[in-house]
Amino acid sequence: MSFCYINGFYKNNIDAQISVEDRGFNFSDGVYEVMGFRNGKLLNFDKHMYRLCKSLINLQISKPFSNPNSLKIIIYHLLKLNDVNDGFLYLQITRGTAKRNHLFPSNIKPNVVIFTFSKGSLDKIKKGVNVALTEDQRWMRCDIKSISLLANVLDKQKGHESGFFEVWQLRKNLITEGTTSNAFIVNKKSHIYTHPKNNFILGGVTRDCVIELALKNKLKVIEKAFNIDDIRKCNEAFLTSTTLGVIPIIKIEDTIINKKKIGLITKTLMKKLDDYLNKQIYE
Ligand code: PMP
Repeated sequence: MSFCYINGFYKNNIDAQISVEDRGFNFSDGVYEVMGFRNGKLLNFDKHMYRLCKSLINLQISKPFSNPNSLKIIIYHLLKLNDVNDGFLYLQITRGTAKRNHLFPSNIKPNVVIFTFSKGSLDKIKKGVNVALTEDQRWMRCDIKSISLLANVLDKQKGHESGFFEVWQLRKNLITEGTTSNAFIVNKKSHIYTHPKNNFILGGVTRDCVIELALKNKLKVIEKAFNIDDIRKCNEAFLTSTTLGVIPIIKIEDTIINKKKIGLITKTLMKKLDDYLNKQIYE
């Protein structure tokens, strides 16, 4: 039996109820975060909080907690109730419940839902995945971690049905990001390229960590969008997300990357990220 947190209460997942007039339900009017925890310790909590608060401000949704610490207490209680030490949590904040109308009332109270989940083994994925390319169909505010994910859902599904693990999206022939992850390549000079953090991508927490770790290890990171030609010429490619960490890419459409072997830089960053997250357990 799994518990969730819903608007001040801890309930069995199947007993939790939300109004049919929840604006998240009716309009995708809300934001979310996915956070990891290891050994019962939340990972990258401050970075997730920073992004969550930015998303809330951008959508003019009022903050449903007085400070990050009050949210931390709620989350740790939920982990205890669910008796979980390693896994992920999904936190969703919608604008709240109101009579269905595009215009929203100013005094509306947000609806908050938190639940935990686990991921299967990543062993196979960590050996390398394939990626398809498609046109980026999303809106112009991909930096907001909105619960409106329809373009991502449809493109990921289409890729999956054609045998691809992830799909990289292109805007004006430049790769923005994956449907559920950020996109990186490493060129012949061992320079790491990824799309700059702007309104065309979600600024991934893992992306930030990986860039920080690469720089610390004297690797050159260039936050500049790359194109299909750059992919054809690259030495390595990888993707990043909270639930996956750093995942090597061995094929992009028909282009084989690094003879399907995990490149040295990718391997280094996989290890550095893992160490960085493990270190947080004892902080
Ligand atoms: N881009 C998109 C579109 C995503 O959905 C995600 C995962 N939520 C990411 C990037 C990676 O972000 P993070 O590293 O914060 O999980």
